Amino acid sequence: MIKREKFWRQPGWLFCLLLPLFHFASVKLTFFCAVTPENAVVVWLPNAVLLAALLRFRGQRASLLAALTFTSDVLANLNAFPWYEAILLSAVNVLEVTITYQLMKRSQTSPRLHRLKDLGKFILAGPVFGAMLAGLIAAVVLQQVGGASTPYLTLARVWWFGDGLGLLIYTPLLLAYTQSQHQRPKLTRWDDAALITTLLLAVAVLSAHGGEIDGVSVTPTLLLPAVAVIAFRFGVRLTTLLVALISLSTAMLMTTGLKPFGEVPIHLEVVRAQEFILTLCIIGIGFAVVLSELQTRERELESRVRERTRELEQSNSRLADISATDGLTGIANRRRFDETLAAEWSRARRNKQPLMLALLDVDLFKQYNDCYGHQSGDDALRAVANELAKQMRRGGDFVARYGGEEFAVIAQSVNEEHALAMAESICAAIAALNLPHATSPFKVLTASIGVALVTPDEQHSITSLIKTADVALYRAKQLGRNRVEQADVTSIA
Ligand code: GH3
Ligand code: MG
Ligand code: MG
Repeated sequence: MIKREKFWRQPGWLFCLLLPLFHFASVKLTFFCAVTPENAVVVWLPNAVLLAALLRFRGQRASLLAALTFTSDVLANLNAFPWYEAILLSAVNVLEVTITYQLMKRSQTSPRLHRLKDLGKFILAGPVFGAMLAGLIAAVVLQQVGGASTPYLTLARVWWFGDGLGLLIYTPLLLAYTQSQHQRPKLTRWDDAALITTLLLAVAVLSAHGGEIDGVSVTPTLLLPAVAVIAFRFGVRLTTLLVALISLSTAMLMTTGLKPFGEVPIHLEVVRAQEFILTLCIIGIGFAVVLSELQTRERELESRVRERTRELEQSNSRLADISATDGLTGIANRRRFDETLAAEWSRARRNKQPLMLALLDVDLFKQYNDCYGHQSGDDALRAVANELAKQMRRGGDFVARYGGEEFAVIAQSVNEEHALAMAESICAAIAALNLPHATSPFKVLTASIGVALVTPDEQHSITSLIKTADVALYRAKQLGRNRVEQADVTSIA
């Protein structure tokens, strides 16, 4: 989708080639189905081609696009008007689109026309103001240059309404089919039924003569409720297409003399058709845009809720981390230790595997503080914690600050030999930190470790495991510190 948007960022040479062809085809289509034999234009589509192109490309290469459509407009008008009049009228068309585009740009109208606010600004700028101004100027050209005998205001009004309706029908359609769409309506069987009913009604309207079949009134107005349903269910794209098809078919019914609005004089018939197309646009495109806007808002709201939930989850997990972390050393705190020991105890019990608990106490730490100050004591605790964390080499190994200058290590599935080796290695690593401790017999900061290893069953408890490790630690202190002592397993009960 992003690639496609990039591709459309600037009108390329292929687009510049296709634009006048498409514009020319739109002029021919208008002459074919929306101009009465009396030369009254019911809807004038081609101006919407340039407007949609300018909106689609946010005004890039505007002069080139305007020149291309101007040329195609002059060429297409040549068989209806003398060349000088065709040039003047085509210039009026380009002026109409330019003014509409500038007004939309100044009022910051989004070219997507997917919000009611933008649709409103577009209608005011184009069908209301741009087309009216063009109508007032074109009527002068038609009278003064073309020598038309129709009253000035009638000429201006016909031009205004024809151009306005053309912009109203064709611009949203072209924009809907040349821009990516977020809306994906979820359809049900009822929607299919609504679409089929609309098509059947359309066939009935198309086959009516003089607005009736066998004396029963069948005018295009019958289609309005059906279009409202389609607008609500099928989104902007299909609705704009349907509105354009119905508008052109209605215009065509008139131009082929089938009189879809009954036996009324031609000038009234054109007015009827234009009123009908205007109502069709308001109901169809208006409803579809309102619904699309509601859906967009709902999506925005949902994504905002999702974003907030994610932020909340993140801050919750940050809080959980903080509440489980020791503030001084950054490793797990006593709370996390209690939770982990309980969980590991259950797991070891389930798997009938041994669990190791080692309690570590920094030796002669009171003296360390007294000698080097509390601040250095804190630094030393951080260094010890850091080293302990480094020593946790296997996935399940866990270390926490148990309290004060005491730490605890938990390890799963280790045998006695491994447990002792691990504790010895930790003990040696702390001495190897080489933190000077003048009043210690070892001259460096050391720690004593009590190790308890047990395969949990109903005869053992967590409390007794901790107590036994503590007894072993006490023994290590008694036996001279800076050493590892193993608990008597039979005493864990
Ligand atoms: P032993 O070898 O018998 O364990 O002697 P010890 O001095 O380490 O034991 P004792 O229990 O007498 O003293 C522990 C000291 O640890 C006392 C206390 O000030 C210090 N301590 C506890 N927590 C902290 C801390 O967060 N920071 C600092 N700097 N010192 C602490
Ligand atoms: Mg202590
Ligand atoms: Mg101590």
